[in-house]
Amino acid sequence: MKMSEPTQFTDQGLRGELRHDVDMSRHTSWRAGGIAQHMYRPADLADLQHFLKVLPADEELIAIGLGSNLLIRDGGLHGTVLLMHGALNEMYMDGELLYAQAGVPGAKLARFAAANDLHGAGFFAGIPGTLGGMLAMNAGCYGSETWDKVVRVQVLTRSGEMQMRTPQDYQVSYRHASRVQGLVCGNDELGAQEFFVGAWLRLDQGESESAKQDIKALLEKRSASQPLHLPNAGSVFRNPEGDHAARLIESCGLKGLRIGGAQVSQKHANFIVNIANASATDIESLMAKVRETVAEKTGVKLQPEVKIIGEKLA
Ligand SMILES: Cc1cc2nc3c(=O)[nH]c(=O)nc-3n(C[C@H](O)[C@H](O)[C@H](O)COP(=O)(O)OP(=O)(O)OC[C@H]3O[C@@H](n4cnc5c(N)ncnc54)[C@H](O)[C@@H]3O)c2cc1C
Repeated sequence: MKMSEPTQFTDQGLRGELRHDVDMSRHTSWRAGGIAQHMYRPADLADLQHFLKVLPADEELIAIGLGSNLLIRDGGLHGTVLLMHGALNEMYMDGELLYAQAGVPGAKLARFAAANDLHGAGFFAGIPGTLGGMLAMNAGCYGSETWDKVVRVQVLTRSGEMQMRTPQDYQVSYRHASRVQGLVCGNDELGAQEFFVGAWLRLDQGESESAKQDIKALLEKRSASQPLHLPNAGSVFRNPEGDHAARLIESCGLKGLRIGGAQVSQKHANFIVNIANASATDIESLMAKVRETVAEKTGVKLQPEVKIIGEKLA
């Protein structure tokens, strides 16, 4: 991709941080990927709204959180990346509901809920993403999912209009959420129509100390079963109905398979780890090899859970 003639965001009183030619390997948990033409980290919600109002209507746009479910190809991204992490960070109790903005990380959300004597948010601690990314993915683990807790969400449209929506406005299923009318909400295509900026969650009343113990136990369980010491993006493939992608991959003898700097984890077969400066191409090629082998040997066609975006290298 040709770099980079900065888009003119003619001043207009923006308070956030605008950068050009940004190395996206620094913004993804795989620590791999190409260059984004522009990146905007808003100062706060009002600043993000203003940014969307002044952004040229044809500018390609994608919101990201912690990049923990993203493979950005080595040819990079056209347009502008909206960085929610480190930007939309507010969180407070609103009556009985917990309100958090889209940039709040799962671990912080879980700890805040526990400190407020709330139960049922512990699973967020094990998901290294932001609330916005967790809404877009309907992230979950150990039997709980993000949308189970949602009472309403706050979104900004592409033109900067604020809207409130309820779970009834979305089609939600395993690792998926989209607008009922078919609008893309997860921004998995550049130029998406709207972005999550906050959500109100209903959690159970409980006792702080036991909620904290639940978080501790969950984190211990995760670190015993996942290769958290190496860059990864969690589960690479969705679990097929009634089975586990990890079981299928392991049964095909693929643990340890390596392409370039990317390797199928020895600890958890549905994780691909970056062991030696893997490129996004290495990771995508390894994913293709795993899919092909599992399909050949078991007849099951694995579907990626990670979102793959950006240009291939020419
Ligand atoms: C070690 C590890 C363990 C993991 N374990 C789990 C697990 O147990 N369960 C699970 O479900 N996932 C898991 N994941 C995957 C990942 O953490 C989740 O998918 C998480 O929800 C991604 O959040 P993010 O903020 O990093 O989103 P990103 O990776 O930045 O983005 C993911 C998608 O969400 C969209 N998006 C991001 N923010 C917004 C927004 N504000 N509005 C609209 N769309 C947005 C992006 O455009 C993209 O399509 C794991 C990942 C790792 C690295």
